[in-house]
Amino acid sequence: MNSKVDRTGDEEPMIEVVGLKKSFGPLEVLKDINLSVPRGHVVAMIGPSGSGKSTLLRSLNLLSLPDAGCITIGGRRMDFSAGRVAMRDRDLAAFRANTGMVFQNFNLFPHMSVIDNVMVGPVSVLKQDRNSARTVAMELLAKVGLVEKADARPEQLSGGQKQRVAIARALAMKPEVMLFDEATSALDPALVGEVLAVIRQLAEQGMTMILVTHEMAFARDVADSVIFMQDGFVVESGDARQVINEPRETRTREFLSHFH
Ligand code: ADP
Ligand code: MG
Repeated sequence: MNSKVDRTGDEEPMIEVVGLKKSFGPLEVLKDINLSVPRGHVVAMIGPSGSGKSTLLRSLNLLSLPDAGCITIGGRRMDFSAGRVAMRDRDLAAFRANTGMVFQNFNLFPHMSVIDNVMVGPVSVLKQDRNSARTVAMELLAKVGLVEKADARPEQLSGGQKQRVAIARALAMKPEVMLFDEATSALDPALVGEVLAVIRQLAEQGMTMILVTHEMAFARDVADSVIFMQDGFVVESGDARQVINEPRETRTREFLSHFH
């Protein structure tokens, strides 16, 4: 079965990044990033440690503020070319809320139950009433297969379950885009599959996603395109099967050789 969603037409991309740059002191981490992701597409981002993958994802969510360039997500545009962006808090919050982020280490609130972790964003940020937020949260827990854990604490869950809660929590904000930063890297191998299954399901439902991952087989099967990053540049990007099976660039081939 081909899970890849076929989207054609000339609608504007869901994500567009132009000339993005970011340095930490003297260290240039993103050197000139350009990318475009159509609505409903899944992009796998691969590359060696330190190549700037997390910084790029964090920039898309404004957890890290770029020094230059422009990011447009879901029609909202952030221009960093004039240096620091002056932006009203409301616009910043709306831009952020449109991208759900899932991290390697789950980042759940340890003192809150599972359901409260999923509800807290809608209640405190989106100002939803608790009852409707709870209803949506239960639907999302059903979607990730964790209804029976609603009242559990994060510490009572396996890593795979925690990560599924983290996905439900991100989805509760109704983002148009989901960003996954090595969402399965901290998991026991036996638990990777249950998290990938949820991500695959989101792909089938047409969610636009960027996944930083070392799961090459998953990237090839689920992603529409693959971006290979190295030293702050996009070295190669293209159709997922092409980049993984027949990379054009020597550096991509060299990187991929570590995974066979
Ligand atoms: P990747 O996710 O591909 O491993 P990162 O984006 O995490 O790469 O990091 C890219 C480079 O930026 C690394 O050299 C890292 O040490 C550096 N870096 C990341 N975040 C910071 C920070 N907050 N302060 C200083 N350097 C950072
Ligand atoms: Mg990283």
